Amino acid sequence: MAVIAGNWKMHMAPEEARTFFGAFEIDEMMANNEILIFPPAISLLAAYKCEDRDPRVQLGIQNVHWEDQGAFTGEISAVMAASVGASYALVGHSERRQLFGETDEQVALKVAAALRQDLIPVICVGETLEEREAGRVNEVILSQLDLALTSIPDPDTRFLIAYEPVWAIGTGKTATPMDAAGAHGTLRNRLEEAIGATTAAQTEILYGGSVQPSNATEILAAQDVDGVLIGGASLNPQSFGEITRAAG
Ligand code: PEP
Repeated sequence: MAVIAGNWKMHMAPEEARTFFGAFEIDEMMANNEILIFPPAISLLAAYKCEDRDPRVQLGIQNVHWEDQGAFTGEISAVMAASVGASYALVGHSERRQLFGETDEQVALKVAAALRQDLIPVICVGETLEEREAGRVNEVILSQLDLALTSIPDPDTRFLIAYEPVWAIGTGKTATPMDAAGAHGTLRNRLEEAIGATTAAQTEILYGGSVQPSNATEILAAQDVDGVLIGGASLNPQSFGEITRAAG
């Protein structure tokens, strides 16, 4: 059993979302997995209400504001996301961090905001190429994780982590299974130190970065990889289905 999550980013308007669900079917080989789709916020309600969506496909929001409401033009709160069918929230995706200046402090506040509405946070961490080449992978991903973990109230709180090396997102470059296993092991050890062995064992750590049907099997087989977060390849119901099938 793996978590297979699709991040549609700024793609898939409501009608396209409906078309996707009309074409995406869960067969026996896929059924053991937890399948999540993160549509753009404007398409969440259409996805939630879509009669063609297999209810086993759960929905999440790609980003939330840290306040529940207020004068924050253009923002969307976790309260609103939950009211249109989201059960999960991506928090701290590298595009949010890099393109919109999101800080570790804001990520921690967003984790708390998601949890207030019972949304399960998917905390994204990952290093840039420059940081990797400087030998700083562990330092970077642990400092991103540490602050986010301060918003986890107790060991029973469910959350997920997505390790997404920035240089692998949308580039066609993938971390080797060994690199992914190394980073995931580092993150899991930190969970054990910070929250405890049970949380460390139970928390799913997803890999993200140019996952495709052609490389999903070997990535999913790597040590400590509990699933994948997929951008580009999740836009196509066939390739998303193939990756889900690869998880068995
Ligand atoms: C992502 O945006 O989370 C991602 C992993 O994108 P891609 O699969 O396109 O690299």
